[in-house]
Amino acid sequence: QVPSYILDIAPYQAGKPIEELAREFGLDPAGIVKLASNENPLGLPPSAQRAMIEAAGTLARYPDPNGFDLKAALAEHYQVPASWLTLGNGSNDLLELASLAFLAPGSSCVYAQHAFTVYRLATQARGARHLMVPALDYGHDLDAMLAAIDADTRLLFVANPNNPTGTFLPSARVEAFLAAVHAAHGERVTVVLDEAYNEYLDPELRFDSSAWVRRFPNLIVVRTFSKAYGLAGLRVGFAMAQPRLTDLLNRVRQPFNVNTLAQAAAIAALHDQEFLQRAYETNKAGKRQLAEAFDKLGLQYVPSYGNFVLVRVGDAARINLELLKRGVIVRPVAGDGLPEWLRVSIGLPQENARFIEALAAVLSGQ
Ligand code: PMP
Repeated sequence: QVPSYILDIAPYQAGKPIEELAREFGLDPAGIVKLASNENPLGLPPSAQRAMIEAAGTLARYPDPNGFDLKAALAEHYQVPASWLTLGNGSNDLLELASLAFLAPGSSCVYAQHAFTVYRLATQARGARHLMVPALDYGHDLDAMLAAIDADTRLLFVANPNNPTGTFLPSARVEAFLAAVHAAHGERVTVVLDEAYNEYLDPELRFDSSAWVRRFPNLIVVRTFSKAYGLAGLRVGFAMAQPRLTDLLNRVRQPFNVNTLAQAAAIAALHDQEFLQRAYETNKAGKRQLAEAFDKLGLQYVPSYGNFVLVRVGDAARINLELLKRGVIVRPVAGDGLPEWLRVSIGLPQENARFIEALAAVLSGQ
């Protein structure tokens, strides 16, 4: 008998792959623009490609199960002990590990409406109860999230910046929230702070969340190499937490969850701060380009702190289909409770221009 909570799961809808769209609509794959999965439009960092070619010779062997070299590089970069780090097959893996370690039927999990879909999926797959807190201005309502914690709550997810809305909570607000949750509930409630888009923040908004990990024994900070570091296809993310939590995540982790090429590429990417800076600047310029276009088209959008923008187009299902016919893949977010909106990832200037041109044509009925 399959548990009813498993049967109730609506599976994750990923952005449509370019080849699939090409087949479906008879389009030339080379002419298709994919702005659907918050990928890095600069592509793979050449430094990571070189590192993988070098590492390929060892692929007959299993990967390092403990990711020694990558953890050492991360520990140095983020100034945390290597023993406080857990590697994941993408940061999704770490979100899942947190749910495996802390949730079960009978427990509850707090997260925000319009937050990253995987929080809902990971909660549901454990048969735990959802405490989805209504969004405030498309972002997290931290006061309401604190108030929503009940006697069964074991896990709470915060995405900052959030996907798919792109909203951001200033560090002082997050810190006050972490302090309040810890003061009220101690280590009974584990907080996962998901910072997948951290590297896209303007420098004055960035902060050292590893300091929070030192201060709060109930905190797990999650980061990824999929976005600004340009390694989405390799699947590598990491978590920072104190040893008690790190030990729990490690108990439910698959032994070889991050492959050899991913480990080698992540080390190279971490050291390639020049690529990271280029990714940040390309994103910032693209964000401006999209905002100006949306203003001109009179479209409402949520100011974004990530590498994507949520824009209100009305009949999003129809407009999405029209964009697909024109070879432009973006992301409908009806499943996140936003049926009038589309999420568009920020691409290269010419990709953004293709999207804007297609959107303008669709909206004007051409
Ligand atoms: N967290 C957030 C907020 C995200 O948007 C994403 C990617 N869509 C992830 C985590 C997972 O990314 P990955 O598994 O590629 O690290």
